[in-house]
Amino acid sequence: MAEGRRITVIVAHPDDAEFGCAGSVAKWIREGAKVAYVIATSGNKGSGDRAMTSERLARIREEEQRKAAEVLGVEAVVFLGYPDGELEDAPPLRRDVVRVIRQFRPERVVTQNPFRTLNPYGSHRDHRTIGGVVLDAVYPMARDHLYFPELLTEGLKPWKAREVYLMGRDEPDLWVDITETLDAKLKALACHQSQVGDWQAVETRVREWAQETGRAKGYAFAESFRHIALAR
Ligand SMILES: [Zn+2]
Repeated sequence: MAEGRRITVIVAHPDDAEFGCAGSVAKWIREGAKVAYVIATSGNKGSGDRAMTSERLARIREEEQRKAAEVLGVEAVVFLGYPDGELEDAPPLRRDVVRVIRQFRPERVVTQNPFRTLNPYGSHRDHRTIGGVVLDAVYPMARDHLYFPELLTEGLKPWKAREVYLMGRDEPDLWVDITETLDAKLKALACHQSQVGDWQAVETRVREWAQETGRAKGYAFAESFRHIALAR
């Protein structure tokens, strides 16, 4: 990869990027990429503790996400502040996603699978919503100046990303060898303390997934994606 390539990862919740693409992110950063994270919600419903409040949980999870990003060398983390579980494909979210794409001007955008599958975890409603909004934002909304003209007055010029990586293990067509960065992925994941109660079990599961994913390409450990190339 060319030196200085800009990559923006846009996901629904804190920890989604770590589960889905942190090994690849660590690898791309080692190869010279500059990576930004955009997290649409602060995951403020993800707790089984009855004494927990949404406000407190949001602060905890934002802090966990910042630590995980730091472990990987991600340069910026932006929280869009939408309520967990309530992402809607509507103008405010579309504008906010277009805004960050025009701010960070990434060649590559990484996001979640917009399609409903029968895997309840990968196919969370918020994941589908953000994935669909990101695809609409990449083309045509971030590219065409007449969408959200207020962004132009903020000084944000139109931007064309070159490609999108959809995270996930459903029908992948692109694999990233994360053998050298699996440890970084696990270290970043472990920062999400409020979510990974039984760390041993999570670590074992994530290693197994990465191993299974790598098998298709003969890598010891891998993450997989669907690749979408956009015309220049
Ligand atoms: Zn999620």
